[in-house]
Amino acid sequence: MAQVYKNISELVTLSSVHKKDGRNLLPEDLGIIKDGAIVFDEKILWVGTSPKLPPEYKDLPTKSLAGHVLIPEIVDCHTHIPFGGNRASEYAMRLNGADYQQIAEAGGGILHTVTKSNSCDEKELLSICRKRIEKMASYGVGSFEIKSGYGLDYENEKRLTLLIDKLKKEFAPKYQIKNTYLAAHAVPKQFKNSSTYLNEIVIPLLEELAPLEIIDAVDIFHEKGYFTREDTTALFKKAQELKIDIKSHADEFNDNGGALLASHHNALSTDHLMCTGIDGIQALSKSRTVATLLPGTSFFLGKSQANARAFLDKGCKVAIASDFNPGSCHYDNVLQIAAMVAPTYQMNLCELWASITHNASHAMGLFNQGALKKGLNSRFSIFKVDELNQITYDWGVNHFTQGI
Ligand SMILES: [Zn+2]
Repeated sequence: MAQVYKNISELVTLSSVHKKDGRNLLPEDLGIIKDGAIVFDEKILWVGTSPKLPPEYKDLPTKSLAGHVLIPEIVDCHTHIPFGGNRASEYAMRLNGADYQQIAEAGGGILHTVTKSNSCDEKELLSICRKRIEKMASYGVGSFEIKSGYGLDYENEKRLTLLIDKLKKEFAPKYQIKNTYLAAHAVPKQFKNSSTYLNEIVIPLLEELAPLEIIDAVDIFHEKGYFTREDTTALFKKAQELKIDIKSHADEFNDNGGALLASHHNALSTDHLMCTGIDGIQALSKSRTVATLLPGTSFFLGKSQANARAFLDKGCKVAIASDFNPGSCHYDNVLQIAAMVAPTYQMNLCELWASITHNASHAMGLFNQGALKKGLNSRFSIFKVDELNQITYDWGVNHFTQGI
């Protein structure tokens, strides 16, 4: 049944963001309505100011949200939630000066997480994931992209994809989950090269799981020392043959043409992009592919941040995500990450909010949300503040209100 929220201190519509497809955004594109009202059931039916609420909606169940700000739902479009164990000692080693090699020799790195994840039984891993999702939701996130990728063998990658599907069904419709298949996350030691692993495990398992229609996107770690351009192209082609969307981890360590390749294949998003050159940026600006930046990872690793302005100024659709994972960003609050990186990225406030709402939704293939506009899905986040500006100002303070 339809209902009404009214007297909302600020209703942040992002309606121009929707019109501009999330590109070339100006501060005024936030589209803030003071003393706002919104009428909705599963879809948004009407948006405006409280005094202009049409008479036909006046008898609907109504809540007053004075002292609150309502924005399109916060979305985390890049997470690695299902994993066992933790890598705190590795992080400590790194802070104390150890390099990648020394960490690997001490038994750290991704293979440590693979061992710990694969030894977690189903019940334990599900419970860990549920807690992580609820914690992230407590900051205001309502839609999550969740990647597999810490199984790295046929049975365990299959188990992770099925586990994400279980979480997706369990949490719907309160939280939306998109299931991303990332068996091509790293190459296990027992394989002589990346293409052998791809052809013996990643592609055959994808072919087995595709008919179940539980995979929303296929992802690959297209980086030097991981998967090559040829591997990435082969996996993209296979996914597209199976009618599944694609994305990639690209250009994190060097510019290997990853963004260019992803946009050429019409990927939903390509992520990291710390080293993307002008060719890649230009290709992204002309494609639907979202440029997803992961500043938390740069903070965590002590690396320089991506050049966000270069993407924004060329008209790319830019998103920010947490990249929550055990090795390179053990931090899960995408809103705080975005607020903290905003001055470094030199994003205006509309670019900032669009990057974790509208554009992040598009990076997950959720094109029917991300703005408060008649006809779009009624997915939004509500904060107990008088104005939007307070949220980005108060680093580390959680103003999100659950249970309205
Ligand atoms: Zn990642």
